[in-house]
Amino acid sequence: MADLRRALGYLRPYWLTTLGALISLLLVTAGNLLTPQVLRLIVDRGITPGDFNAILLFAGLLLGVSLLRSLFSFTQSFWAEKASQGAAYDMRNALFTQIGRLSFSYHDRAQTGQLMTRLTSDVEQTRLFIGQSFLQMINAIVMLAGSAAILLWTNWRLALIALAIVPAILVVFAFVLRRVAPRFRIVQQKLGNLNTILQENLTGMRIVKAFAREPYERQRFHAANEDLLQENLSIIGAIAFSFPLVFFIANLGTLGVIWFGGYQVIGGALTVGDLVAFNTYLSYLLFPVFILGGTLAALAQAIASAHRVFEIIDAPIEVTDRPGAVALPRVQGRVAFEDVSFKYIGSETPALDHVSFVAEPGQTVAILGRTGSGKSTVINLIPRFYDVTGGRVTIDGYDVRDVTLASLRSQIGIVLQETTLFSGTIRDNIAYGRPDATDAEVEAAAQAAQAHDFIMGLPDGYQTVVGERGIGLSGGQRQRVAIARALLLDPRILILDDSTSALDAETEYQIQLALQELMKGRTSFIIAQRVSTVRNADLILLLEGGRLIAQGTYDTLLEESAEFAEILDTQFGADGRKLAEAVALP
Ligand code: ATP
Ligand code: MG
Repeated sequence: MADLRRALGYLRPYWLTTLGALISLLLVTAGNLLTPQVLRLIVDRGITPGDFNAILLFAGLLLGVSLLRSLFSFTQSFWAEKASQGAAYDMRNALFTQIGRLSFSYHDRAQTGQLMTRLTSDVEQTRLFIGQSFLQMINAIVMLAGSAAILLWTNWRLALIALAIVPAILVVFAFVLRRVAPRFRIVQQKLGNLNTILQENLTGMRIVKAFAREPYERQRFHAANEDLLQENLSIIGAIAFSFPLVFFIANLGTLGVIWFGGYQVIGGALTVGDLVAFNTYLSYLLFPVFILGGTLAALAQAIASAHRVFEIIDAPIEVTDRPGAVALPRVQGRVAFEDVSFKYIGSETPALDHVSFVAEPGQTVAILGRTGSGKSTVINLIPRFYDVTGGRVTIDGYDVRDVTLASLRSQIGIVLQETTLFSGTIRDNIAYGRPDATDAEVEAAAQAAQAHDFIMGLPDGYQTVVGERGIGLSGGQRQRVAIARALLLDPRILILDDSTSALDAETEYQIQLALQELMKGRTSFIIAQRVSTVRNADLILLLEGGRLIAQGTYDTLLEESAEFAEILDTQFGADGRKLAEAVALP
């Protein structure tokens, strides 16, 4: 319920429109309540005494009332829709901003399909409630109270008989609501599961096809779909069951009114017009009860969905600017790990265990170690993708947690093994980190990254659309675009997960040249996949199970560390060392 109140708060910027909708709604209701009075006048003043003029007069009045009612009906639904669309617009923007702010540790655990479901379906369910059902509920309550008052005022004895059915019907609805409310959250959850499978299949289409797993994926999707269907059906069953029961109770009420009302008319205590009007109000009494019933389902649904929306909006952001964080000035690039320990959330063992080292400005640091030894983790802590759990990481003496994220990350260039390109032109992709770069700067970066030539060979050169639905690039081409992207940023610190898989000799050579250009004059961290980078690094970090077991240059390590020689051989083949000697820079 608190979530729902918060969702309604999103209407605040649109309060004038909401108020307009509410007033229109009340006017429509007033018109509805007025109509039987006019009908009564037509019967009692016109038809019974046979007065034609009176009939015309009151019929004209009826026409006027119904025209006004139509007008306000329109403004009510139009304004309510407008306000709720605005609220949903703000809610989606807030969600997207929050999803962007959430730290890696959150995204490590979140499923994309679930997030997408919350941003689309859950926002829509919430919107439907605040745009329609909420106003209908207010309307129903006003109508219910109004009809009850008029009924009591007209004939309290008949009114009590009629009103007796209301609590009975509300009990039925409350019972149903209690049963279905928790289910709606499950429905949204299952819809999220379905979207997750869809999303995985869309992004992993190549793997699915390559492994000929279409039948398995189809079966997985069918099962999730079936799950969703069953959950929906069970809710519909519970709701549908309540309606015949409610109709039956309502009919009992009408029967009671006709029974006792008939007696009173025969006894002369009531006119026929009174009974007709009374009967009409009776249907007005039932109408809001049905509306309430209908909106109760929407209410339950909105409670579930609003909860899912605010769960994300309230999710703690682990890595964020600390109050009073300063902008990191342009750095020299001295990166120090001071007794750093780190543990991933939900993990038992530390991924890094008391790691200390210093990278001087302009040095190339090669990180070496077996799979799972913590190489990527070291790299993740520099741009604060995660925060250390012990010790500190400093850049030029600044603890990375004391500076703003934007100023920190804008000085760190990152090239990952898996290059993500966004839908857009090659130029846009290279200029992703610096959209204001000139064409000449973009071209210079591409030149240095050995990408210019192949880009000029594309149909539209730098304006060629790549990424989603655009032209496909090869792995080596993508990586060179990524290197150009990092180069354009002209970062002081460079991070490189250089795990390029088998490339042909020519591409390998070109990327080698591009990397050398990229590393020049910057503090570079490289997860070493090439024996040449290890050989020529200023500092080699040797990781083993999260601990830094040795550090130094190639020559010192070869002398001091037996593990180093072993890793060199396992990683670069039996001739690793010989190879390393061969590629040594003069
Ligand atoms: P590789 O050479 O295979 O890339 P790595 O040296 O880069 O390995 P890391 O990715 O740093 O290894 O992982 C170190 C340890 O932390 C591993 O045991 C891994 O299972 C764990 N780990 C890595 N990422 C996460 C994560 N997001 N959540 C939980 N544990 C993680
Ligand atoms: Mg790794």
